[in-house]
Amino acid sequence: MTEHGTAAAPSRSTPSQDGPDEGDPRAVWLDLSSEEQQACLRDQGQPPFRAAQIREWIYRRYAQRFAEMTNLPRALRQELDRCFRIWPLEPLAQVVSQDRSTQKVVFRLPDGQTIETVLMLYRRRRTLCISSQVGCAMGCTFCATAQGGLARNLGVGEMVAQVLYFARYLADPQAGPGMAVERPTRVTHIVLMGMGEPMHNYRSVWAAIRLLTHPEAFGLGARHITLSTVGLVPMIDRMAEEGLQVNLAVSLHAPNDELRSQLVPINRRWPVEELLAAVRRYVDRTHRRVTFEYALMRGVNDSPALAHELAQRLQGILCHVNLIPWNPIPHSPFQPTSPQDTRRFAQVLRSHGIPTTVRLRRGIEIDAGCGQLRRRLAQQDQAAA
Ligand code: SAH
Repeated sequence: MTEHGTAAAPSRSTPSQDGPDEGDPRAVWLDLSSEEQQACLRDQGQPPFRAAQIREWIYRRYAQRFAEMTNLPRALRQELDRCFRIWPLEPLAQVVSQDRSTQKVVFRLPDGQTIETVLMLYRRRRTLCISSQVGCAMGCTFCATAQGGLARNLGVGEMVAQVLYFARYLADPQAGPGMAVERPTRVTHIVLMGMGEPMHNYRSVWAAIRLLTHPEAFGLGARHITLSTVGLVPMIDRMAEEGLQVNLAVSLHAPNDELRSQLVPINRRWPVEELLAAVRRYVDRTHRRVTFEYALMRGVNDSPALAHELAQRLQGILCHVNLIPWNPIPHSPFQPTSPQDTRRFAQVLRSHGIPTTVRLRRGIEIDAGCGQLRRRLAQQDQAAA
């Protein structure tokens, strides 16, 4: 990987010689269940404790190759490297914001598809925003990822490896691209708010969450993970039964069906009242506070009247509203709401007793808003061809 780039010129890395190449036929170790990993090691004539040693290397020391696992027999390391890649990701380009608080990486997957992951530094948090799909099928009219449709779901390893990549960087920040981290540290929070609809890839997303929270794997507290959904009602009910304290965020963006169906087409399938009923059931079952996300677009969904309507609909739900200044995307008819109107919208909600926060604007100059750097790289490639 090359050093950090600027907004104007994301730095590109040439694929490293030992990194996985496009068309790499090797299976992905992280996609194997622990039973499959055990079986594979047994076939190699290995004792049962090998699996735990390997897990330790992957989840505590963020090893990228078996060759790094120096307490394994050399022949085994070589054999495993021959058959498996650990991480199915190859960093393709990265940018760091001018204030060094945000880093976005575009990764290439084994089949040549690309995804984005964003690391954001806050005072006490290092939050990672990961992708769950290549593209997205939900078609939200204000979202850059929606424009290309869905290519495919991500596998478990492709999600977990996004976290391990940045964990490795934070464990040795001096080796990386110059963010404002002086000492080795950790990923403290993960949000499933990158590309894709996590509830549309439910099984793999939850398998990844299990690994990210398992004490013998990545071991992050479930409360430090947030799953954001467009509102797939049956899956909200399913999540309520998972028994893990993962946070639920629901992308609402409008208080009534007429407006929400224009912004979030899936609303025609599960309208606002059904969605809110599912959220109430979720809160009853889990006693956990839900976040409603609301991206403010000028003249579309940002009037005080809509704020009153929203507050009324949310009355009695254990929730909080996160207002997001809409991130501009090229060729879009939408405009972001002004800071004044954002404050006014927040005030109306608070006057009804709805806890409301305004999300800090992050990474705008590095194309961190949903799918934008990846798109720009693809456009540059087309122009160069
Ligand atoms: N599919 C999931 C998670 C990915 S998007 C979901 O819909 O929740 C994460 C959040 O960013 C969602 O609330 C989404 O509506 C919002 N979003 C998408 N494009 C945006 C933009 N250009 N500006 C601000 N927020 C945006």
